[in-house]
Amino acid sequence: MTPPDTLRWIATKRDGGALSDEDVTALVAAYVDGLVDDAQLAALLMAGVINGFSTAEAIAFTEAFVRSGDVVDLSHLSGPTVDKHSTGGVGDTTTFVVGPILAACGLQVAKLSGRGLGHTGGTLDKLEAIPGLRVELGADELRDQVEDVGLAVAAATADIVPADKRIYALRDVTGTVASRGLIAASVMSKKIAGGADTIVLDVKVGDGAFMRDLDDAVALAELCVEIGQAHGRRTAALVTDMSQPLGPAVGNAVEVAHAVDVLAGRAGGRLRTVSLELAAAALSLTGTGGADPLARATAALDGGDALDRFRRMVVAQGGDGRVCDAPWDVMERAPVRRAVAAPADGVVASIGARGVGELAGRLGAGRQRAGDPVDPAVGVVLAVEVGDAVTAGQPLATLHARDDGAADAAASRLVELVTLAPVGADVTVPELLVERVGA
Ligand code: URA
Repeated sequence: MTPPDTLRWIATKRDGGALSDEDVTALVAAYVDGLVDDAQLAALLMAGVINGFSTAEAIAFTEAFVRSGDVVDLSHLSGPTVDKHSTGGVGDTTTFVVGPILAACGLQVAKLSGRGLGHTGGTLDKLEAIPGLRVELGADELRDQVEDVGLAVAAATADIVPADKRIYALRDVTGTVASRGLIAASVMSKKIAGGADTIVLDVKVGDGAFMRDLDDAVALAELCVEIGQAHGRRTAALVTDMSQPLGPAVGNAVEVAHAVDVLAGRAGGRLRTVSLELAAAALSLTGTGGADPLARATAALDGGDALDRFRRMVVAQGGDGRVCDAPWDVMERAPVRRAVAAPADGVVASIGARGVGELAGRLGAGRQRAGDPVDPAVGVVLAVEVGDAVTAGQPLATLHARDDGAADAAASRLVELVTLAPVGADVTVPELLVERVGA
């Protein structure tokens, strides 16, 4: 039976009011128990997206989500324990670089990750491009691996924040994701239930992010940090640019291969920069980075220790460690690889991050609905960044596709997504690290 307060809760949000802690607790519990139906919750969430959720409501949602399931107990690890989370982007493989750096610096990283949905990729889908690698780890296995290797990246089990899982799925199909309070509650409930004592967040801003506006992204970062600190977790956030894909590779195996290149020192660029900054923020929060946490993180990366940790993690989870030496000897390569040429001379003015993510999804790298299979081999590898000068015929990207038809369709779309300014134009390259909160 629908709780008698349901219509009052909906009307409160419709009329711009705020729900009390008790209301939020009762609402989430009633939804999980099937007493509030999808239409009612969607109406309430949409009203909240339009009129806003207060900080107190965001905290109440966080707590209700955490209480809906289990909390991972990492207390008997030698620690410090760290978790890292991105609010979702394109070509964003920082987990595979940050986690190993932190493990190499003596921290313990227990990273519970998700799958891709819509235009954003999912860490678990990317990892599963490594044949044999398992992401379903039991609680004891996760803890043992973190103690031994310093790093595990695993699927959050169904028992972690089940309320968020159900409500996120509803938000995803009702246009109610882009709310600061709801995103903060969704992200922070997962991090708090994940059990780590230190949390570093990468809040994305721009075309490929949920927050397209800088003020909104900073406010989201501040709210997440406030929620983390209120739960006694050392928490910091970086706000970073997602107006163009972070790394050149967008897909599953292609992103793993690029992350390995960064770990092996064969590639640098924006993915390396953001990864080092996130690692430095975690080192600084835990007081383990010495006088110069960025230098400490850089030494762990450049000295090969981080690559070694990644290899140990892959092997511990059943994958083939040779992926760290020769990724394409281990992972499947797409049968069709098609270079897409610049149609004219010019300067790259923008690369639509959301569009490139959607394009990789249409090639098969992502899923349109939860539960769809993904193709590990397909994707996009960009050859240019914003601000690069190009000449007609020069490759803008290579498409990795299942067949020629898919490559043909993707090629014409990719040319539209890379906008060129006239030769010599003064193109502004977006700042990569936009803001630090709590760091
Ligand atoms: N990532 C999450 O985990 N939740 C959101 O609501 C948005 C991004």
